[in-house]
Amino acid sequence: MTKVIVLNNDFTVLGTTSYKRAIRLIVKGKAETVAESGIRIHKSMLIPSVIRLIKAIRNLWKKSVEWSKHGVAIRDGYICQYCGVAIPKAKVTIDHVIPKAYGGKNSWENTVCSCFKCNNMKENRTPSEANMALRKKPVQPTIMEFLLQKIESEGLEEILKSLGIY
Ligand SMILES: [Zn+2]
Repeated sequence: MTKVIVLNNDFTVLGTTSYKRAIRLIVKGKAETVAESGIRIHKSMLIPSVIRLIKAIRNLWKKSVEWSKHGVAIRDGYICQYCGVAIPKAKVTIDHVIPKAYGGKNSWENTVCSCFKCNNMKENRTPSEANMALRKKPVQPTIMEFLLQKIESEGLEEILKSLGIY
């Protein structure tokens, strides 16, 4: 269902939420509509496409993005980091660069998005053992980078561009 972009009080991007949650925030006075989607749910209410929080979330840049498999796929743009193929969201696998069997961790620096074929071909080997090069070094994304990547992965960046925010 329709996703709504959430902006911080200073118009920086925070992420997305469901339209139901967005409306709840507006009704409670915690957010205001910045742009409307044109979809009407009630004769006096349009679903917003962008909302802005009334109260700022401070020190956001200090927060770090928690590692998750889904997050790794978003960071890597659903592109296999070995062969470069675009992977359908449902078919994404996560490869441990240093295999778990060698003590490789679930971390931003040690995991990449991989297609099934490459993941299967690499098996429990390091990239050099498998003679498979990574397209780029995996790093922990900053929270702002990650939020923008998340919006891109949901195809919502056009709304932000049209508002001159992105
Ligand atoms: Zn691949």
